[in-house]
Amino acid sequence: MKDTFKHQGMRQKLVDTLIKKDIKDKGVLKAIGKIPRHLFMDSGFIDHAYMDKAFPIAADQTISQPYTVAFQSELLQIQPGDTVLEIGTGSGYQTAVLLELGAKVYSIERQKELFKKTSKFLPTIGYRAKKLIFGDGYKGLPEEAPFKSIIVTAGAPYVPNPLLSQLAIGGRLVIPVGDDVQVMTLFIRKGLKDFEKHEFGDFRFVPMLENKN
Ligand code: SAH
Repeated sequence: MKDTFKHQGMRQKLVDTLIKKDIKDKGVLKAIGKIPRHLFMDSGFIDHAYMDKAFPIAADQTISQPYTVAFQSELLQIQPGDTVLEIGTGSGYQTAVLLELGAKVYSIERQKELFKKTSKFLPTIGYRAKKLIFGDGYKGLPEEAPFKSIIVTAGAPYVPNPLLSQLAIGGRLVIPVGDDVQVMTLFIRKGLKDFEKHEFGDFRFVPMLENKN
């Protein structure tokens, strides 16, 4: 599968749509304009790759809607060189956006099938995370903490404490919190036990699952 002028044109239209929906971060828009999203999806869905919609990937999961990816990425305010933890690698599309923004990315996925598929795929199009991990995002990744940013790309029924405690001072956690519908929530760590909380409206994610069998 290739990236053609047609794909590039469709991507530019997607970027225009995101600008209309009030995404402003230049780095985020540039990343979305550059990353060949169609390569992250099963071939049957190619025609939909540049619509602003979520789509099914393997293991009953979804690749997030581009607007959601842009919205979460913008909230993180990533600077080149930041160490970032992602929970829910999925297709690796959000991972690629973080890498385009210059982050050093650690990403955890709990579905083995997706972990394997994405670990193989990302390097083939030039995206190298620091580490992709098969594991449980509720625990975070204590051995690599603290993180400048943590992004959760599945709907969390509550905010896992390990994620808050693995944030650097000044660091940002972006997490959709809720059961059927999630409120996009940003925590900024102001001090050891001091967190500022901001809420940004409703989104819908596949659930962040606990105690995988
Ligand atoms: N960022 C992904 C979104 C995938 S959907 C993308 O752009 O494609 C959310 C992902 O979170 C799914 O792949 C799901 O398997 C994963 N997930 C759910 N619960 C998890 C957990 N406890 N730990 C790590 N990953 C989890």
